[in-house]
Amino acid sequence: MLIDHARRPGEKIRISGGGRCNFTNVDAGRVERYAGAQPRFARDALRAFPPQRFVALVDRHRISHHEKHRGQLFCDDSSQRILQMLRAEADAGAVQWRLGCRVHAVRAPGQGGFEIDTDAGTVRARALVVATGGLSIPPTGASDLGYRIARQFGLDIVQTRPALVPLRFEPAAWAPFGALSGLALEVGIGAPGQSCAPRFVEDLLFTHRGLSGPAALQISTFWRPGEPLEIDFAPGRQLEDEWIALQPDGRQQLSTLLAASLPRRLAALWLDRFGLEHPEVRPTNRVAQTGKRALRELAASLQRWIVLPDGTEGYRKAEVTSGGVDTSALDPRTLQARAVPGLHFIGEVVDVTGWLGGYNFQWAWASGHAAAMALTA
Ligand SMILES: Cc1cc2nc3c(=O)[nH]c(=O)nc-3n(C[C@H](O)[C@H](O)[C@H](O)COP(=O)(O)OP(=O)(O)OC[C@H]3O[C@@H](n4cnc5c(N)ncnc54)[C@H](O)[C@@H]3O)c2cc1C
Repeated sequence: MLIDHARRPGEKIRISGGGRCNFTNVDAGRVERYAGAQPRFARDALRAFPPQRFVALVDRHRISHHEKHRGQLFCDDSSQRILQMLRAEADAGAVQWRLGCRVHAVRAPGQGGFEIDTDAGTVRARALVVATGGLSIPPTGASDLGYRIARQFGLDIVQTRPALVPLRFEPAAWAPFGALSGLALEVGIGAPGQSCAPRFVEDLLFTHRGLSGPAALQISTFWRPGEPLEIDFAPGRQLEDEWIALQPDGRQQLSTLLAASLPRRLAALWLDRFGLEHPEVRPTNRVAQTGKRALRELAASLQRWIVLPDGTEGYRKAEVTSGGVDTSALDPRTLQARAVPGLHFIGEVVDVTGWLGGYNFQWAWASGHAAAMALTA
């Protein structure tokens, strides 16, 4: 039996991927693309149900799909096709649906199994699978019920935080960069305060309030309040070496030099701001006239820009919630609470957070599969 307080379950599937559902990623079997207190926890479930298994299911339902950049797989037409597929699979398994049905209490009476008080009466069950997701985007039905059930049965919760979310800055500090709003470019981005944080090379979007786009969303999962981010506007290049090599008789102006590597708006703003601290560096200076040290500092300022976010846009805008049910209390092959036979936690409610690009759905499918195999064993 599936109990959901929403009238339309799977609302996040419907709205995901701009309505086309980025349902998995060809690389979604790689456990290092998932974050959590126990970074390798997801491995068993992902091995047992890798992305190819979900793609085979999608193919069996004749849902046409395509690969976008970085291995992301999307439906050709609409995410409704994925919802219809899941509905058909559940119907084939004789699942009973209780939609628009609130859960009031969960009990585990002494003799084993569970009693769940709902709007539709008390349901008795041998096993209970909690798949209530995270706290992001409340209008989709998000609630903290899963965390409350976990605590009720003595499981710890790793502190929850909005993740895959745009970053905000203190308005006065951000004011000069507000002029760049709407500008997007590929950058390298890292969180130097977090040793486990990968360095992403993705598109960054400047907004009126801060930073968005895939680069900001990816790093937001690893960023912690009070810590800086490091941004490289020319990933894969060594501007310092390139510019010093040009130096002896470089005739071009600095404004032309920067505009060759950066969007014009960013190049102009950068030179203006750099000039505030280095009055000898003017946009019209020729490279040959500019001291080596100033050229080096200018290159470093572009390849190691340190910024200090003030916060995130919160659960209202976060694609996922990181943290959640502590994985040390769960069996990684069955997602069952080690201390509570029959109680399983799957999907986003668990402390496993995938990268942007189909990883979070893959974790939802794979962890669901692991629990289902345990229930039918
Ligand atoms: C805008 C947006 C776009 C996204 N795009 C992608 C993408 O393209 N690719 C990707 O991999 N991931 C994407 N994600 C993340 C992905 O949607 C989630 O990680 C995934 O849906 C988690 O699945 P879940 O089953 O654990 O939880 P959910 O999909 O959140 O489902 C939880 C269900 O539990 C129900 N529920 C909650 N509380 C209660 C309660 N108290 N009583 C009864 N029922 C309850 C809810 O109504 C809901 O139906 C996106 C998320 C958002 C918000």
